[in-house]
Amino acid sequence: MAKLVEINNLKKYYKTPRGTVHAVDDVTFRIEKGRTMGIVGESGCGKSTLGRMLVHLEESTAGEIIFDGEDVTQLTDRDMKKFREHSQIIFQDPYSSLDPRYTVADSIREPMVVSGKYSRAEAEERTKMLMDLVGIAPRLRLAYPHELDGGRRQRVGIARALALDPEFIVCDEPVSALDVSIQAQILNLLKKLQQEKNLTYMFITHDLSVVKHISDDICVMYLGQLVETSPSHDLFVKQYHPYTKALLSAIPSTDIYNKMNRIVLKGEITSPIDPKPGCRFAARCPYACEQCHQPQKLEEVEPAHFVACCKVREINELKK
Ligand code: ADP
Ligand code: MG
Repeated sequence: MAKLVEINNLKKYYKTPRGTVHAVDDVTFRIEKGRTMGIVGESGCGKSTLGRMLVHLEESTAGEIIFDGEDVTQLTDRDMKKFREHSQIIFQDPYSSLDPRYTVADSIREPMVVSGKYSRAEAEERTKMLMDLVGIAPRLRLAYPHELDGGRRQRVGIARALALDPEFIVCDEPVSALDVSIQAQILNLLKKLQQEKNLTYMFITHDLSVVKHISDDICVMYLGQLVETSPSHDLFVKQYHPYTKALLSAIPSTDIYNKMNRIVLKGEITSPIDPKPGCRFAARCPYACEQCHQPQKLEEVEPAHFVACCKVREINELKK
């Protein structure tokens, strides 16, 4: 399978009066064309920062972002404009990402007007086509964001992201602000669009149960770093990192014969300011030991399944 996006040792640091925030700290993975990479972790672990770097809303501090064979951290302004057309983002809260003064049609049309890629008539035609594609009734053409419910607003956000026919879309918690019944509709829409247009997604969420049905692969993040990455179905069958286990055990189970023991994590995720070398989860980990203060590297524990934890082998021996 061809890879579309590859990131290597990507970092984003923010200097603040309290120290340097290591929001994304040495992250490496690739996304195959037409597939969905799920990025999971608690609030504050760096998911949105990662997403914003991938669509160049944010400059990286170090590392490579290779899109279709080209390092886009090194692009000239003209090439950057082209890259931006190919990669788009959908936000959690379309209410704040849509301009309140724009009608539905204005919002969807705007990227086409700005790009200069389409004539006025073409942009009009495409706006109609996109509204139909994402399931917004023609009568809502002139409605304003505050007149729409959350699901319809997110449909507008999706249509807008599709306006320039991108190949890659970062979905940053696109259903987290929606009612559960609406969540499924939006996830189904994203899946349908992916199939029809062979789109590649990076799907960010703090909720593992949401990525289960949409992701082909999953990266679990903790304080700016990957702790585990694996094909999605493998991860739901077997988790190695104590943090992944804790995240999974928090999903309410409907299977009474297969209830997991819920692992309750001590303390809260802290801010990644001037972190010490070693595992960042150690402070909350029930299995923490001396070795955890050493830097941890992702190691392949099963084909395509990588874990960064010195205790993993021991823990799995104990559980057998
Ligand atoms: P998530 O999307 O997983 O909730 P974010 O990527 O928004 O996490 O944030 C990761 C970390 O980076 C947090 O500790 C956050 O406070 C910090 N951060 C994000 N943006 C900035 C910024 N512009 N300046 C300083 N710190 C930031
Ligand atoms: Mg976020």
